[in-house]
Amino acid sequence: MQHNLARARACAPQARVWGILKANGYGHGLERAMRGFADADGLGLIEFDNAVRLRELGWRKPILMLEGFFGPEDIETMARHRLNGAVHCDEQIAWLEQAGAAAQIDGKLDLHLKMNTGMNRLGFKPEAFAKAHARLRALPFVGEITLMTHFANADEAAHPRLPIREQIRRFDAGAAGLPGPFSLSNSAGIFQQSELGAALRNDWVRPGIMLYGGTPGGKTAEAFGLLPTMTLASEIIGIQQIEAGESVGYGSRFQAEGAMRIGVVACGYADGYPRHAPAGTPVLVDGVLTRLVGRVSMDMITVDLSALPQARVGSGVTLWGKGLPIDDVADAAGTIGYELMCALAPRVPVLEG
Ligand SMILES: *Cc1c(COP(=O)(O)O)cnc(C)c1O
Repeated sequence: MQHNLARARACAPQARVWGILKANGYGHGLERAMRGFADADGLGLIEFDNAVRLRELGWRKPILMLEGFFGPEDIETMARHRLNGAVHCDEQIAWLEQAGAAAQIDGKLDLHLKMNTGMNRLGFKPEAFAKAHARLRALPFVGEITLMTHFANADEAAHPRLPIREQIRRFDAGAAGLPGPFSLSNSAGIFQQSELGAALRNDWVRPGIMLYGGTPGGKTAEAFGLLPTMTLASEIIGIQQIEAGESVGYGSRFQAEGAMRIGVVACGYADGYPRHAPAGTPVLVDGVLTRLVGRVSMDMITVDLSALPQARVGSGVTLWGKGLPIDDVADAAGTIGYELMCALAPRVPVLEG
């Protein structure tokens, strides 16, 4: 985690860094992620209960609520715990104005004003941005206003529909004349910093997946100089010798072409292994690359041991992580490393080290 955070800093040396730990630190555990990113300048997430938990755990530096507040009742929590919230719609500004009128806020509230530059999820249109900014600026309890946007295609600079340069152009137009600080880049945007230089005016960056050693797309995590932070490991708990024509698992989906040895691994979709992973998905047994065969079941998967005559009950299995990039497994399963990390199930015991 420290190594990957240092990579983010090296890619965007001018910027301060929000370590993003929404979704329980991308499945790594909130407290573990907080400790791993102790050197970050702030932490960003979505969930209010976890933000309060970070304060209880002793996090004193800034905390950014990436989706801001979901109702007027959250404003008091933000003020009490000094949470910096994204403001992305008129309703939120109205709640702030009402809270101000009711004198519910002690001290200053720092905020992020979000612009929709083409992602069309959250944020004000560029032409509505200055007005939203003026409404916030008029509130006496509002402190620093950071201007933010979010990129749709930072992993593919020349995207045919919405290239990153077009989003930056819209951002610059909407934010013209407004003071910073600015915050534009997620992990993929951070990896564009050297290419785009000063055009990407990041005073703060918001890395998530890269801090956990996953690629945001474009290149492999290794090519980006990242190290995996999560290894999902188990063991072989049973072995079956099967003959040509025999099948394996629910639906008998996999059928052996010749005699082969099948290893049964104690890990299934109830652990967060993707159920839709097809035969051929890579798995390491005793450090040797082999493949998934048969359907993923709740508590087990089955793997091909044909090329592993030494494998036996107790042999170590890596589902992803050290030695087997999570992105390779995600690719095979038609998903992304983000989803696999976030879906790690609570029943999986976590060992640190
Ligand atoms: C999740 C999130 C990020 C981090 O994105 P990665 O692709 O994981 O780096 C950054 N900004 C916002 C607003 C987010 O919601």
